[in-house]
Amino acid sequence: MRQNRILSANLLDGLALSKRFRAELKVRVDRLREHGIVPRLDVIVAAQDPASLAYVRMKRKWAEAAGILGESYSVTPETTQAELLGWVKDLNENPAVHGVLVQHPLPKPLNEDEVLLALGAEKDVDGITPASLGRLVADLPGFRCATPLGITHILKDAEIPVAGKNAVVIGRSVILGKPMALMLLQMNATVTIAHSKTQNLAELCRTADILVAAVGRAEMVKGDWIKPGAVVIDAGYNKVDGRKFDVGDVAFDEAKEVAGWITPVPGGVGPMTVASLLGNCVTAAELRLARGTQ
Ligand code: NAP
Repeated sequence: MRQNRILSANLLDGLALSKRFRAELKVRVDRLREHGIVPRLDVIVAAQDPASLAYVRMKRKWAEAAGILGESYSVTPETTQAELLGWVKDLNENPAVHGVLVQHPLPKPLNEDEVLLALGAEKDVDGITPASLGRLVADLPGFRCATPLGITHILKDAEIPVAGKNAVVIGRSVILGKPMALMLLQMNATVTIAHSKTQNLAELCRTADILVAAVGRAEMVKGDWIKPGAVVIDAGYNKVDGRKFDVGDVAFDEAKEVAGWITPVPGGVGPMTVASLLGNCVTAAELRLARGTQ
């Protein structure tokens, strides 16, 4: 990974890493195509949610560049729960489909939990169904959540030691904070999970050799919350009026003076989330080929 020196902190350039990662994926996809397999990632997305559509467009663009194709299923106000579950059943049974992404959020009153419970773990390339999360808890093979998985790729690529380190994860969501904590635990860190009821958060953060911010509050983590030399991973992206780009959960300009390593926003965790999702989809197609059931 490129390690640009910016004052005290090394920049963990997730965008550069994602480019290398995606180039490697293209090679794996070309090999699959030689066996007549075109990896396919289908997406279920709310048709009237501009943010979801923008995320899906970006994922689709990178997928196509890597040779991964797919269909979109648009959820409209007329879509019923039964119809949605019918799509999931068809996708589970369709051997041409290797991965399914359910782009959060689906519009109310649709029940997203029920959709995720219905999706087969072998197609859950976003790693967010209860079945996939159960596999993570049980240390069993399975697809891991794309955002925390992308963060582990960033740490490994920069050869950052994790075993024996104190890690603090701020946030306990099912798609980010909790699986992140479990993945760091698997890497033998000593992990603390912080949340909105945590007392003395700044003090706790100062104990962290590795600090992961997954909160959704612009620039909440200040420079003086950071242990000198710590690794700071900012998973947040927040819209802020008057700012052209999304803003992270970490006050970057302050934090980079104290941290040893830091991810920027944009260009840090976000690109590696998408790359990891696509990586899982290619792995799903490879596993199917290995089993001879493509
Ligand atoms: P979420 O479901 O809203 O969870 C936020 C977590 O932060 C909750 O556990 C909450 O605690 C905790 N929290 C809120 N305020 C806090 C405070 N003042 N002090 C300590 N903890 C606090 O959000 P999410 O889906 O995990 O996303 C978190 C951030 O990551 C958002 O900015 C989101 O946009 C971003 N994100 C990025 C990617 C990516 O690809 N880079 C992917 C997904 C999400 P409680 O549980 O106690 O409420």
